Amino acid sequence: MATLDGLPPLRDVIDRFGLDAKKALGQNFLLDLNLTQKIARTAGPLEETTVIEVGPGPGGLTRAILSLGAKKLIAIERDARCLPALAEIGDHYPGRLEVIEGDALKTDFAALVPEGPVKIIANLPYNVGTQLLINWLLPPAWPPFWQSLTLMFQKEVGQRIVAKGNDDHFGRLGVLCGWRTEARMAFDVPPQAFTPPPKVTSTVVHLTPRETPMPCDVAKLERVTQAAFGQRRKMLRQSLKPVGGEALLNRAGIDPARRAETLSVEEFVALANLI
Ligand code: SAM
Repeated sequence: MATLDGLPPLRDVIDRFGLDAKKALGQNFLLDLNLTQKIARTAGPLEETTVIEVGPGPGGLTRAILSLGAKKLIAIERDARCLPALAEIGDHYPGRLEVIEGDALKTDFAALVPEGPVKIIANLPYNVGTQLLINWLLPPAWPPFWQSLTLMFQKEVGQRIVAKGNDDHFGRLGVLCGWRTEARMAFDVPPQAFTPPPKVTSTVVHLTPRETPMPCDVAKLERVTQAAFGQRRKMLRQSLKPVGGEALLNRAGIDPARRAETLSVEEFVALANLI
């Protein structure tokens, strides 16, 4: 059957290279190139852009990113079984795909792209996705090496990423994302879109860095959010005791009887700047 890009259907690729999904590597593959193009398009125009993809697997999203014109794509994959399939894609788009076999958690992403900001697009392995996002949000220098992140997560994680105050999903991740980025949920992807299907709905989130986030020491912000959300049902006068408790809250002009999830990102930053 013909495909959008003239390469073989992904189901055939998976059969030919024996890429049966490994749970331990968070392998839930997307085989519909219309869907992978929709994800890649969420990142905006790709021509003239260098893109980084984490976990290309058999290459569904990789093919979409290249077919939409990315100047260069650097893909980091831990599963060596996928490399021959990815090499075929590289041959189809000469000089544009670089595949690195390795662990994304141990990769120095900024060093891969000394030439400037990149777009990161990925259907992330569920077991390392949140940690990768946090790593991309934490560098002391800002704006970072990336100009946007377009990432697939389990929907519940997506809700935590975009959550603002007064929301059950609001927590440490929401504060970090809200402080340094503009984050939005783009669209949901049902389990049956994946092979094999995961148990829950997934969602694509899109984040862009704020040009000038409020000045704040990341480590202090982490201390405040850790204390506040570690006991999220308690009043802040109690949960924030390890970082200054009621006296700190009074200095920030915040009612000590409030609970963590009712604070705004700005209020968390104010508290961090006072400890
Ligand atoms: N991009 C493909 C797609 O959309 O069909 C595959 C996505 S699958 C959810 C996650 C991919 O990440 C798998 O190919 C898996 O082997 C890879 N992976 C898992 N852990 C990784 C790690 N620590 N570093 C790099 N790749 C990893």
